[in-house]
Amino acid sequence: MTQSDSDALDLNALFEELQSQQAEAALPEDHRSGFVAVVGQPNVGKSTLINRLIGQKIAIISPKPQTTRRRILGILTREDAQVIFVDTPGVHEPLHRLGEYMNEMALTAIPDADVVLFLVQAGTAPDDLDRQIASKIAHFEGPKVLVINKIDVVEQDVASARYTAYQALGKWDEMLLISATEGHGVEGVLDALIKHLPQGPRYYPEGQVTDQHERDFGAEVIREAALGYLEQEVPHALNVEVDEWKERENGMLYISATLYVERDSQKGIVIGEGGKMLKRISSQARRELERILEQKVYLELWVKVREKWRSSENWLGRWGYKPPKE
Ligand code: GDP
Ligand code: MG
Repeated sequence: MTQSDSDALDLNALFEELQSQQAEAALPEDHRSGFVAVVGQPNVGKSTLINRLIGQKIAIISPKPQTTRRRILGILTREDAQVIFVDTPGVHEPLHRLGEYMNEMALTAIPDADVVLFLVQAGTAPDDLDRQIASKIAHFEGPKVLVINKIDVVEQDVASARYTAYQALGKWDEMLLISATEGHGVEGVLDALIKHLPQGPRYYPEGQVTDQHERDFGAEVIREAALGYLEQEVPHALNVEVDEWKERENGMLYISATLYVERDSQKGIVIGEGGKMLKRISSQARRELERILEQKVYLELWVKVREKWRSSENWLGRWGYKPPKE
C-alpha cells in the first residue's frame, strides 16, 4: 500500500466514524438494541421468520431439514430499536462432525443473547428434542419468548391444544401464535422482542442487514437451488464454495462455484444425465441471484468429490464450520 492510499483510507474511516456519531446522536433516548437467539428444531421456520422480519432474504430456506449450517445474523434497524437476530442451525441428533458443530452453534448462541426466541411448530406436539431445547433455555436468565409457527396448517382447536402443551415446557415471558409464511402475528413478535431488549446503541450501521459476505451468501443461494432438486442423502453431503466473483465491464456479474459431494455416485446425481440436473440447478440459482442482487449474473458451476468432508476437520475448517475457540 502506498502512503497516499493509507491516508485516503484513514480519511474514510474518520468520515464513517463522524457519520456514525451523528446517527448515534439522533437516536431516541430509550433506543433499544440487542441479540435475539432464534433456536428450535430444524424445519420449524426459523429462517423464514427472520427473512420475513428483516423484509429481505438473508438466510436460505428449504423443506429439507438442516438447511442452515452456520450462525447468520439478520439485522433489523428501526428508529427506536435495532434487533439482531441470530439464525441458528436447528438442533438435531448429530450423525457426524458437521452435525455436532451445528448443534454447538445453535446452543452456544443462547448464553450470549439478550432475548431467546424458541420457535416450534403447531403441526406437531412437543417431543423429546423440544424438551431438551427447553431445558437448555431454562438456564438462560434473560427474557424467553415462545413462538408457535405454522398455525396455518392446523384447526383452531389443535392450535389451542398445542399452545397449552408448549407452554408447559418452561416459563415464558411471552407466547405467540404465528404463521411466518402468511405473515400472521409476525409484527407482534417484533413488538414482544423489542419490549424485552435492553436500552442500547446501534451496533451495526443502518442499511446493513446481515454479517455474511457476498460470496458466502452466493454459495448459500446455489446450495438452496441444489437442495430444491436433490433427493435423499445428497443434500447433506453437499457443500458449495464460490471460486470467483467478479464484476465484468459489461455490468454483468461473473460467478464461478464448485459443488462438493462425498462420493462419485453423488457427483453423478448432481450432474445428471447429459448434465441436465446441473443445468437446472444452475439456472434456478442464477435466476435467484439475479433477483436478489438486481444484476445480470453469469454462473458457472463445477462438481467435485471430497470424501467424508463432513468428518474432516480440515475441510470443515476451510469452509468455516468450526466452533469458536473458547
Ligand atoms: P428452519 O430450518 O427452521 O430455518 O426452517 P425454514 O425457514 O428453512 O423452513 C422450513 C420449511 O417450513 C420451509 O418449507 C418453509 O416454507 C416452511 N414454513 C416456514 N414457516 C411456515 C409457516 O408459517 N407455515 C407453513 N405452512 N410453512 C412454513
Ligand atoms: Mg434455517
